[in-house]
Amino acid sequence: MKVVLIGFRGTGKTAAGHLLARLLGVPFYDTDALIEEKAGAHVHEIFGAVGEEGFRKLEREVIATLPSGPGVFATGGGAVLSPENVEHLRRGRTVVLLQADAATIEKRIRDTARPPLTTMGLRAEIQHLLSVRRDAYLSAADMCVDTSARSANEVAIHIKRLLEEGTVPVERMEKAARAIAQSGIPEQEGRELLEKIGAIRDNPVLRFYGVAGYPSLHSRSPQLYAQLFSYFGINAHYIRFHDPSLSRILNLAADLDVRGLSVTIPFKQEVLDAVDHPDEHCSAIGAANTVLFCGGRSYAYNTDWMGIRDALFKEKGKTAVVLGAGGAAAAAAYALLSLGMEVTVLNRTVEKAEALAARFGCSSGVPRDFDRIRPAVVVNATPVGMEPDRGSPLTREHLFPGMTVFDLVYTPPETPLLRMARSAGCRVIQGREMFIRQAQAQFRHFTGIDAPLHMIREMMG
Ligand code: NAP
Repeated sequence: MKVVLIGFRGTGKTAAGHLLARLLGVPFYDTDALIEEKAGAHVHEIFGAVGEEGFRKLEREVIATLPSGPGVFATGGGAVLSPENVEHLRRGRTVVLLQADAATIEKRIRDTARPPLTTMGLRAEIQHLLSVRRDAYLSAADMCVDTSARSANEVAIHIKRLLEEGTVPVERMEKAARAIAQSGIPEQEGRELLEKIGAIRDNPVLRFYGVAGYPSLHSRSPQLYAQLFSYFGINAHYIRFHDPSLSRILNLAADLDVRGLSVTIPFKQEVLDAVDHPDEHCSAIGAANTVLFCGGRSYAYNTDWMGIRDALFKEKGKTAVVLGAGGAAAAAAYALLSLGMEVTVLNRTVEKAEALAARFGCSSGVPRDFDRIRPAVVVNATPVGMEPDRGSPLTREHLFPGMTVFDLVYTPPETPLLRMARSAGCRVIQGREMFIRQAQAQFRHFTGIDAPLHMIREMMG
């Protein structure tokens, strides 16, 4: 058994970790103790001598060279803020996040010798760091355990049970798996899911992720995530939910204790009402494409806008037009505004363009306004040009050399608009660049690991 305990100071990693190791009959390792051994000094002395940065460097070295065999590994509270550490910790191990409320943590650590990380008072520092680190903790974990009302012994016994029996009864998983396999997903994917559940008693810590959509049959996420999980040694299986009802999908996801969902059409808006904690970006955009589940709570994010922002990073501050006023257009306008661009939303139904522009405080109009604006950057967020359609939302006269044209449509990869823009001397960006970049950000939410863009590009074929 290889188990990593992560979480804030005072959540019980060391105390419960020792007991858990004894229950499992494996060695216990504490990364802080290993750092002290390596440095020949106490943690507070290391902080005093080389500061937090020097401590984190030592921590990275220790985590990269942890024994690869069985063991319970307790980590320092800030260890999982580094994706590199998370990558090492997760490989072949199950990561358990220990959580506790701020008052409990304060009570537990009040009299310890650990150095403060900020100049705030203890309670304020705990609350601040819990909120800053929340997403990193949630992402790096396979399962979450609240230790607030449990003794170290109870925590150890509870984790042992989760590791040996899984987080939900097998019968419940089997029923859900049968329903998913019969929902119209490709036969082979259904068979694979049933096989995984059939063998779940031998691998109770297998975690599930999936895509929620209708239709979801076009989604290439299952193929991408299977490769990513295998490459990073993560014990997880990615499935496809294909159902017109979001609440039915969420119930099935709960039956499998799914860790994370990629959310696609038509649920990106609806899902916001179903989650406990939407982040500031998805609340502003009005749509989410990523949901994480942890300890009975759900957390929503939007990585679509990041996919657009990162692809257009070089175009900061320019004049831009977004064509369309639907979900993708909202993510695009939000992304362009975050890059300091002067944005106009143009849509055939002008009321929708006006409503979107009013939400973000940018300009709006109808497609014929394009000539007047002569933007440096254009993002097509309409389905015009998507197979089997062969149209283009702009004509050759709209395009000039040096203009950047980003077509969010990705089937076909080279749309009629992009072909025309290329021949007009524009810089062109294909829709798959948005998918690849949003997937990179989504994988980070799902696992805490940074997968390089070139790797995702290659895996997408
Ligand atoms: P949506 O919410 O349905 O919005 C579509 C928008 O396009 C609406 O504003 C609609 O105008 C406009 N539109 C539709 N047909 C049109 C036509 N024939 N001529 C002019 N305007 C038209 O769709 P969405 O979710 O935003 O998706 C839009 C596109 O983005 C799709 O092609 C999708 O594949 C692409 N997308 C790509 C990625 C990626 O990863 N690359 C991710 C998400 C979406 P009205 O308001 O007048 O109806």
